Amino acid sequence: MLIDSHVHLDMREFRGDLDAVVERAAAAGVVEMLQICYDAGSIDATVSLAERYPRVFGAAGIHPHDAKSWSGEVERRIRSALARPKILAVGEIGLDYYRDLSPRDVQRDVFRRQIRIALETRKPIVVHSREAFPDTIAILREEGASRVGGVFHAFPGGPAEAVEALAAGFLVGVGGPLTYRNSRLPETASRLPSSGFVLETDCPYLPPEPYRGKRNEPAYVSLVRDRLAAIRGVEPADIERAAAASYRRLLHGERPAAPSIAYRLKGNVYINVTGSCTNACVYCPRLGRDRTLYGYNLALASDPSPREMAEAAAALARSAQPREIVFCGFGEPTCRLADVLETARALRGLGVPLRLDTNGHGSAIARRDVVPEIAAVFDAVSVSLGAHDAASYARLCRPDRGGERTFDAVLDFIGRASASKMQCTVTVLDYPGVDVDAARALAAEFPGAAFRLRRYHIRADGKTGV
Ligand code: SF4
Ligand SMILES: [Zn+2]
Repeated sequence: MLIDSHVHLDMREFRGDLDAVVERAAAAGVVEMLQICYDAGSIDATVSLAERYPRVFGAAGIHPHDAKSWSGEVERRIRSALARPKILAVGEIGLDYYRDLSPRDVQRDVFRRQIRIALETRKPIVVHSREAFPDTIAILREEGASRVGGVFHAFPGGPAEAVEALAAGFLVGVGGPLTYRNSRLPETASRLPSSGFVLETDCPYLPPEPYRGKRNEPAYVSLVRDRLAAIRGVEPADIERAAAASYRRLLHGERPAAPSIAYRLKGNVYINVTGSCTNACVYCPRLGRDRTLYGYNLALASDPSPREMAEAAAALARSAQPREIVFCGFGEPTCRLADVLETARALRGLGVPLRLDTNGHGSAIARRDVVPEIAAVFDAVSVSLGAHDAASYARLCRPDRGGERTFDAVLDFIGRASASKMQCTVTVLDYPGVDVDAARALAAEFPGAAFRLRRYHIRADGKTGV
């Protein structure tokens, strides 16, 4: 379900061939486009485009460039557009200190007025901000815009600004600049939570490579999706699902999907074993309110039974062969080791490699060496090392019990797993405060273990520091 959350189809660049542009978008799999207003004239154009094309919805508002044209009449037209069922948002509104086409105090005033309209009409906001991030975020906060949320279109900042935008209840709009050299967007986009972005083109502007210098159009949103998938190490379908879920939640008020016991991600099938864990890592998404992952709802009311896990995973694996079946979830699978082993045994017959993702606490939880039991059914184990030394582990991973000694238990687990017949990978997150080189050197002490550096993601509530 590919959605372009930011188009300007009323611009003259599309005058000659709009039907063909919309058809090409449909052929590329684009099911919805959000047509964004920029001046008073484009309000009526947006309303009529939304009437003419079933896939086109709209946002009404005045761009900061045109803030100087604000009047009671403009406000009346915005409000009347917003009363229509297909006009879903207020936008694009904000501040542009780069071109300064309206006086800055007028821009700020018109921005505030339009935020208030959004709050009154309970519509989300599409923000334009250029060279004005601190003022933009301050105004959004002061006006209480998080009550309606919105999208920071053509996101202008790095990861630190993304934290602020997410904390203010806004999604990050990811578009063509993701494919540009020298853009900050790839770094920012690689750090976002999977529930923190939507895809956009901003057509006819900002075309992705290889169309730079040409007219952009909604069909090219597929190139943004593909690039983002490559940057984040997932499949295009994962990006599409995640972005569509965030868009539909924000713009259509859609509730999260039913919770998943098993789900398809990165070409694998994952089993959502448990929501409990023996750590409380500072970066863990479990600690925030967001329980979604790439559009899946992982908030199970209770832990699934071995039979439920095996049936859910087998059904997915039979519909399309996964690379691996991974026991993972929003918690620590070895908290339920007996159930995990029973499920894994039931799935062995499928002929798909089985992997366990773990924090390495299994033996400490069971008070015995559990590696032989795991190695009897699993082909691979991936152990999260968490930090480079015991003190950092205690500070960042905050284990329930054992404090700094837990780090030794994790190393012991890695030692035994790497000596087993399982393929063993030690993973480390590049979270600030983790000495990645020291962690890599530590992992190298286990010749049987591979090392994988993972990029940490900002929590959806923006609480994680950068
Ligand atoms: S070990 Fe994993 S599931 Fe447990 S708190 Fe840390 S990040 Fe979350
Ligand atoms: Zn725009």
